[in-house]
Amino acid sequence: MSKDDQRSAGRYILAADAVRRWPAGTVLAVLGSVFALVALSLVLLLAVDQRLVTDVAVRLHDETVPWTLERQRLARNLEELRLGGQRVLTAPDAAARNDALFLVRVLAAHPSMGEDPRTAALAAEVEGFLAQPSAQHPRAVDIKAWEAISARLRLLADDLSVEGGQRVSAELDRMSEAVEQTRYKLVLNLVLVGVFLASALFVLRRYLIQPLQRIHRVLSSLDARGPLPDLSSAPMAEIHAVEEAIVRFHATLRENEEVRLKLERLATTDGLTGLPNRRHFLGQAAEEMARALRYGRPITVGIADLDHFKQVNDRFGHAVGDHVLQRFASLVAETLRQTDRVGRYGGEEFAFIFPETTPAEALRLTGRLRQRLAETPPRLPDGSALPVTVSFGLADATGRDLEGSLAQADVALYQAKGGGRDRCVLASPDSGSAPQP
Ligand code: GH3
Ligand code: MG
Ligand code: MG
Repeated sequence: MSKDDQRSAGRYILAADAVRRWPAGTVLAVLGSVFALVALSLVLLLAVDQRLVTDVAVRLHDETVPWTLERQRLARNLEELRLGGQRVLTAPDAAARNDALFLVRVLAAHPSMGEDPRTAALAAEVEGFLAQPSAQHPRAVDIKAWEAISARLRLLADDLSVEGGQRVSAELDRMSEAVEQTRYKLVLNLVLVGVFLASALFVLRRYLIQPLQRIHRVLSSLDARGPLPDLSSAPMAEIHAVEEAIVRFHATLRENEEVRLKLERLATTDGLTGLPNRRHFLGQAAEEMARALRYGRPITVGIADLDHFKQVNDRFGHAVGDHVLQRFASLVAETLRQTDRVGRYGGEEFAFIFPETTPAEALRLTGRLRQRLAETPPRLPDGSALPVTVSFGLADATGRDLEGSLAQADVALYQAKGGGRDRCVLASPDSGSAPQP
C-alpha cells in the first residue's frame, strides 16, 4: 500500500468518524413508530367522525323522526278539529251537530293535544267556542270569529308540519356536515400517509439503497492494482462499517498485490542484470516455440558466452565483473527487437530466442550485438574502456524442440570458442556446425 493510499484511507476513516452515525435498525424503528402513530391517529379521527354520524342517525331514528311524525299527527288532528268545527257549524240538524260536537270533544281531549301548549290552548278554545249556546244557531255565531279560529288552526297545523321538517333537516344537515368532515379528514390523513410513505421511501432510497448500490459498484470495480473508487461516507452506521471494511480490504488487497508482484519479480528476474532468469526464459521460449510450431513459422535460438570472463574477474575484481554483466545485459535489451527474448542462462551465459527469424537474420542480429559491444565497451571505475568480446552459438529451431535446439546452439557456441571466440556460429542441421566469422 502506497503512502498516498494510506493517507487517503486514513483521512476517509477519520473524516467519517467525526460524523454521528445512526444504526439502520433504530432509523427503521423510528420510521415504523411514526407510521404507526399516523395510522393510529387516522383510525381515531375516523372513529370520532364515525361516532358523530352514528349519533345523528340514532337520534334521527329514536327522537327526531318519531317527534316529527308526532308533529304530523298533531297537524292532522288540528285539521280534523278544524273540519269537525266546520261540520258543527254547518250541521243540518241537532243530531248531526251533536255527533260533530262529540267528535270535536274527542279530538280536543286527545292526549297528543296536551303535548304542545299551543295546541292544548287552541283545542280548548275551539271546544269552548263550539260549546257555547250561540253555536247551536250558526247564523248567530260570529262567523268571522270562527274563520279567525279556523285560520289559526290551519296556521298552527302548518307550523307543526314545518317544525318537524325543520328538525329533520337540521339533523340531516348535522349528519352531512359530519360526513363532509370525515371526508376532509380522510383526505387529509391519506395525504399525511402519502407524505409519510414518500419521505420513508426517500430516506430508504437515500440512506440505504443508494449507499448499497454505491458499495455494489465499488465492489464490482475493486482492483488491487488501481486506486479505491470513490466511496462516500454513509450516515447509517452499518453501511458505514461496510465502507470502512472495504477501505481496509482494498488496502490489504494492494499490499498483497505489491508483495505478489515483488515475489513474481524475484522468482522470474535475475537480480544482477534484471533480465528474465533461466527458468522464466525457458518458459517464455517454450511458448514462442509452440507458437512457431503451430503456425509453421521460422524461429532461431542462441546462447552467448562472454569470452575469458574469468580473467576479468581475476584482473579487476568481482564487482567489475558484475558491472560488465550488467552492461552487456543492457546492451542486449537496447539492441534486440521487441519480439526477441533473452534470459540469463548461467554465470556469464545468456540465452536468446528469435521468433519469426531465420538463422541468417539471427546471425545478422547477433553480429550487430557483438559490434555494439566492441564500439561501446564497459568502463572501468577509472573511466577507461575494458574491451570485452562475446561468442554466440545459434541453431535453427524451426519445427524442432527447445531442448534439442538449445543443445545444438551450445555445440555451436563450443565451436565458436574453439574457433577463436568473438564470433557467431550457426549449428548445422545435423548438429555439426558451420562457423561464421
Ligand atoms: P571462455 O571464454 O571459455 O568462456 O572463458 P571464461 O573465463 O569466460 O569461462 P569460465 O567458465 O572459465 O569462467 C566463467 C567465469 O564467470 C567464472 C565465474 O567466476 C564468472 N562468473 C559467473 N557468474 C558470475 C557473476 O555473477 N559475477 C561475476 N563477477 N562473475 C561471474
Ligand atoms: Mg561460460
Ligand atoms: Mg566465458
